[in-house]
Amino acid sequence: MDMGLSGKRALVCASSKGLGLGCARALAAEGVDLIMNARGQDALDASAETIRAEFGVEVTAIACDVTTTEGQAKLLKAAGDIDILVTNAGGPPPGVWSDWDRDDFIKALDANMLTPIALMKAVLPRMMERGWGRVVNITSQSVRSPIPALGLSNAARTGLTGYVAGTARQVAQHGVTINNLLPGIHATDRAVQLDGGVAKAQGITMQEAREARYATIPVRRYGTAEEFGAACAFLCSEKAGFIVGQNLLLDGGAVSLTM
Ligand code: NAP
Repeated sequence: MDMGLSGKRALVCASSKGLGLGCARALAAEGVDLIMNARGQDALDASAETIRAEFGVEVTAIACDVTTTEGQAKLLKAAGDIDILVTNAGGPPPGVWSDWDRDDFIKALDANMLTPIALMKAVLPRMMERGWGRVVNITSQSVRSPIPALGLSNAARTGLTGYVAGTARQVAQHGVTINNLLPGIHATDRAVQLDGGVAKAQGITMQEAREARYATIPVRRYGTAEEFGAACAFLCSEKAGFIVGQNLLLDGGAVSLTM
């Protein structure tokens, strides 16, 4: 299937590793030039170089914190007129409902709600003028099925989801689509971190922690960044122009829902 993406330009935030990198690689495989980002320079440069060598696309690597206004300004300057925006950042820490104060919420809202909103507000006007654009926000399964220990994430990402639901329907007439991808558990550093926490708390091995989690997922494994990236590339493609304001769960069936 020709995705119609060759020669387009994408800003993929938080993309030196994990799901962001999966999206960057899948877009590059379709001939998309990239602006990639992460805070750590070394891993970012290494991933950018691998993508250049493997797919022959142009890659600009910008090391900065996407959740700061300075970081966003740097990225937007380097990006210029882009066709595709993929928003992403690290997730907030776990805890219980009574742990978090105002500052914790502000930090989570900044990272996982206000940052993607600021980036969308910056790029949407030119996409609309040019009559084509794609935005994909990486959110979480917790938007459909809240994870109790991730209250900060539940709150911030649900706020973003509400904003996208309204905004996507205001920009679609200009050829611009906005959709969200909701990862369930994927085999990235984040999964290693979560399994490490469970192993320590329960006095079990990492493998035991992993197997216990596999048992809760109908496909009995974690998702891969490659699978995740493929879904992102499809939502960004020419073929997906009628998909607007959707929340696509990629969770191996873990969340049991009829719709
Ligand atoms: P990951 O493997 O830990 O990768 C995170 C990537 O984002 C790295 O490249 C990291 O590089 C970059 N990054 C983190 N914070 C950043 C910041 N403030 N500014 C710029 N770059 C930043 O994480 P992941 O598994 O891909 O997860 C991506 C998102 O999906 C997270 O928000 C996570 O909570 C959410 N999610 C993941 C899963 C899962 O199972 N993996 C499930 C549900 C939701 P640097 O550290 O060098 O900046």
